[in-house]
Amino acid sequence: MTLAKLDLVAEVDKIFADLGVTADQYKGGTLTVRSPITGTEIGKLPEVSADDARAAIDAAHQAFLEWRLVPAPKRGELIRLLGEELRAAKTSLGRLVSIEVGKVTSEGLGEVQEMIDICDFAVGLSRQLYGLTIATERSEHRMMETWHPLGPVGIISAFNFPVAVWSWNAALALVCGNSTIWKPSEKTPLTALATQAIFEKALSRYIADGGKAPQNLSTLLIGGRDIGEILVDHDKVPLVSATGSTRMGREVGPRLAKRFARSILELGGNNAAIVTQTADLDLTLRGVAFSAMGTAGQRCTTLRRLFVHDSVYDALVPRLAKAYQSVTIGSPLQDGNLVGPLIDQAAFDKMQAALEAAKAAGGTVVGGERVLDGEAADAYYVRPAIVEMPDQTGPVRDETFAPILYVIRYQDFDEAIALHNDVPQGLSSSIFTNDIREAEAFVSARGSDCGIANVNIGPSGAEIGGAFGGEKETGGGRESGSDAWRAYMRRATNTVNYGRTLPLAQGVKFDI
Ligand code: NAD
Repeated sequence: MTLAKLDLVAEVDKIFADLGVTADQYKGGTLTVRSPITGTEIGKLPEVSADDARAAIDAAHQAFLEWRLVPAPKRGELIRLLGEELRAAKTSLGRLVSIEVGKVTSEGLGEVQEMIDICDFAVGLSRQLYGLTIATERSEHRMMETWHPLGPVGIISAFNFPVAVWSWNAALALVCGNSTIWKPSEKTPLTALATQAIFEKALSRYIADGGKAPQNLSTLLIGGRDIGEILVDHDKVPLVSATGSTRMGREVGPRLAKRFARSILELGGNNAAIVTQTADLDLTLRGVAFSAMGTAGQRCTTLRRLFVHDSVYDALVPRLAKAYQSVTIGSPLQDGNLVGPLIDQAAFDKMQAALEAAKAAGGTVVGGERVLDGEAADAYYVRPAIVEMPDQTGPVRDETFAPILYVIRYQDFDEAIALHNDVPQGLSSSIFTNDIREAEAFVSARGSDCGIANVNIGPSGAEIGGAFGGEKETGGGRESGSDAWRAYMRRATNTVNYGRTLPLAQGVKFDI
């Protein structure tokens, strides 16, 4: 089916009818949403006012005061039900992700699977919010750590993972005893509305089963940056987890620090892979192609820089260029297409500017041109670009949120690691090698300086079991698996004297 024939409005209406989202929630408002698949308007949402946003945050604080008293495994039961509701809605929510963001079908569904996975993780976690018991120097004393709920958690999310990022934060925050307040990207509020409806279904079932939960446990604030700022500045929000550009993090980080609130910053990446002389080139080709072109280069973990050893450069790079020429581009809803559209014209313009800058810096560009504009003039499909660069200059050092892969030849392994680390961002990285020394060096202290360092898989596509996040201008936050939950709780150290004397620490005497 040609792009012009797709009836995305009807599809959205059907999905929302199934989920119980009413027309007044996404029609007749002021925030226009367009599907990048065709550029067609698919929603006009009412936006929250500043006063209503502040009142909603106060209400979320009241909810926190009650929810923190519900035992953690019972809080986990709510998240178990959320996982069930997400399983039931996987097809429709995945489809909506594809319609609103332009992800190919398997990636839209994959995003919902990620939500289900974090729910499973959080349910187990709800029985494992452990503290330590610590040896004390005082007799007849016990010292321990306890972890307590923190408060309402603000979640600001980006367009490219419009719902998974909410779930990474919300599933953990809720089992940890917090309420949540979500400000989704203004480009993707429809999937947020759908997610909120799914959460409400889980909550109704939880309450019908006898579970105790306050009103306003999970709040959705539809609006732009100004509403995000209200969340960032509100003194009843002790933690804001903000995902988006480094520009956004530079504004949000200092504002939170000013009022001593915590932040989890998940910002831009400029991810690289090193291909050494022993690499399995077939596997490398597949790993690089998915990481660099998947999601049309609009993942924070997209592969953007490729360092290839001189001895394998000519065996790999021409094959890669061929794959770039033949990759299937088109409607993400159609099976077989691997690359969907860019989110909007601004993304396209930034891509073209980066390619011009690369040429000016001595790069040789293949691809990057707009395609399918004859079928849909308001949609921005591009052929992914592969750019051979003489070295790491100009736009190579920046994150351009589009499918551009810069390829650079190297001679020496240490030189490749130095180049790899010589950018301001530090999210994800990989090495393709069969040499155990190189693999181990890459993941060691003298190797990749990123939050994620992989061997023989590309940098994009993380599992929820590991902590996710990056260093340097990527912001330093960690969310999702491992012990990321600790950021959503406050730690108290407790010393209990069960004796009849009062020994002071460090032998201090104070006899009165
Ligand atoms: P963006 O920075 O334009 O917007 C992200 C969110 O921040 C939106 O909800 C926006 O309304 C809000 N926002 C912007 N300025 C704000 C401010 N001053 N105060 C409060 N809120 C503000 O990002 P985007 O274009 O939606 O997403 C793409 C970017 O996100 C890329 O840089 C990508 O690498 C990054 N990203 C990072 C991760 C990660 O985990 N590290 C994941 C996904 C996306």
